[in-house]
Amino acid sequence: MRRGKSNEKGVEPLERPEREVNFMPELPEVETIRQDLEKELPGFLIDSVQTTFLPMVKPTLTTVREGIVGKTIKDFKRKGKLLIVNFRNSTKHLLFHLKMTGRLLVRDEKHKQDPFTRVILKLSRNGKSRELRFTDVRKFGFVKVAGEEELKKILAAMGPEPLDDLNLEGFKKILQKSRRPVKVVLMDQGLISGVGNIYANEALFLAKIHPRTQSDKIAVEKVENLYFVLIKVLKEGIKYRGASDNTYRDAHGEKGHFQEHFKVYGRKGEKCLVCGEQIKRIELGQRGTFFCPRCQK
Ligand SMILES: [Zn+2]
Repeated sequence: MRRGKSNEKGVEPLERPEREVNFMPELPEVETIRQDLEKELPGFLIDSVQTTFLPMVKPTLTTVREGIVGKTIKDFKRKGKLLIVNFRNSTKHLLFHLKMTGRLLVRDEKHKQDPFTRVILKLSRNGKSRELRFTDVRKFGFVKVAGEEELKKILAAMGPEPLDDLNLEGFKKILQKSRRPVKVVLMDQGLISGVGNIYANEALFLAKIHPRTQSDKIAVEKVENLYFVLIKVLKEGIKYRGASDNTYRDAHGEKGHFQEHFKVYGRKGEKCLVCGEQIKRIELGQRGTFFCPRCQK
């Protein structure tokens, strides 16, 4: 196991996996975090918002503080990879996007510091204190306060959500309208929300479709099958609490286990679990793409 450089004093070095892949949080990972937060934090009051990296707080730290300090958390919702915090008696919403390496951790205030913490929300309820810590090595993630209208616009710019309003007919239309490779279409957040590299690779393997296949050229029965296996693989990801390498963790800092169930992702050179052929890797849309050349033609 090679070790990456740590660029801040006293933090654990990042482990780089042998496999040439990097996991980013996708729909199942964000849903796992959402479920964790929903169990624990509704009813907590926001006492303060602190940051060590202003550009991750949008539009500004002042706006975020004015929008949410003193408010009580009502619930946590999600669309695709976007996490949405709603408050009681408030028209403001707080949005989190983890992007590449973000984590959201619920901690007791006495819990030791988490490396790369960029934003801390201090919370309290009936004398109990908690911190919601947003850590992010790469700093592409963000937290943002938005009003009703702005949230509507943001959600409208995203494609339908596979576990909510993406139905079979809508899915067929999306694929039939594009001449791009099917894998690129699956991962286009403006067309479908929440599907990233891991789950697109796995779904295409289960559907026996080559990732480069031109989207509008796939037979209808195969498109239908792809829809069902995509939903299935996303639900499986949630069941195993997401896929973890050195980035994604749940809201308690624990790893998910879906990586132990990958059929193609990150398995270049290993044997196909169905036919024994070697799994191949190609670049597609600048992302490592894994498939079985015999099963996925
Ligand atoms: Zn195969």
